[in-house]
Amino acid sequence: MLIPKQKPKAIITDVDSTLTERTTWYELTERLGGSSYAHADLFMKYLRGKISFQQVKKDLFKLWNTNGPVHKNKLIEIFRDIPLRGEAFSLINQLQEKGYSLCLISGSIEMFIDEIAKKFNIDHYYGNSIFHFDENGYWTDLDYTRNEEHLKIKQFEDFLKKTGFKDDECIAIGDGDNDLELFSRIPGIVVNPKSEHLKELAWQEVKYLPRVLQLLESIE
Ligand SMILES: [Mg+2]
Repeated sequence: MLIPKQKPKAIITDVDSTLTERTTWYELTERLGGSSYAHADLFMKYLRGKISFQQVKKDLFKLWNTNGPVHKNKLIEIFRDIPLRGEAFSLINQLQEKGYSLCLISGSIEMFIDEIAKKFNIDHYYGNSIFHFDENGYWTDLDYTRNEEHLKIKQFEDFLKKTGFKDDECIAIGDGDNDLELFSRIPGIVVNPKSEHLKELAWQEVKYLPRVLQLLESIE
């Protein structure tokens, strides 16, 4: 477990199930008329090596195209509409008012993270899955980095390079296994943990987001 050595200047936060209630991927699949259970089942098969990435994509696109091909504008509309937890709004606003630099590092969909960053004027943000569209704006493909944990570290390093912050000046917030590597590198606050491993690595554990600000303000 890493303990903060000084008052942090930058807060690196996960998005899915930390700032949102649910996994955005499942929310998206349902809003496109597909079953999130079928989605979860397919993704599990891919992770277990039972089907290839090409195959899982093909099967998932069948779910996503349940009601016909999906246009970019439809996706933007959905991503704008996916709610954050009520308490996430106030946490983000308060952190910004107190002068912390915020950075979103998410294993979720890049387009969704872009929308949140725009909504809250967050300068630094990184997602994982990148969507591709045909010349008419219809969604046709996606890239996904399977090693989400490690991608988060690479994105964190990019953030440090761009801002000049040092590891010691940063604290992470997260909830799941893809935050493990980041929590091994900088002190972490785990929110409503889904991951026992992450709980063990975390500096602090909170059930509700407002407690995060109290913890940060308590650091000498
Ligand atoms: Mg998460």
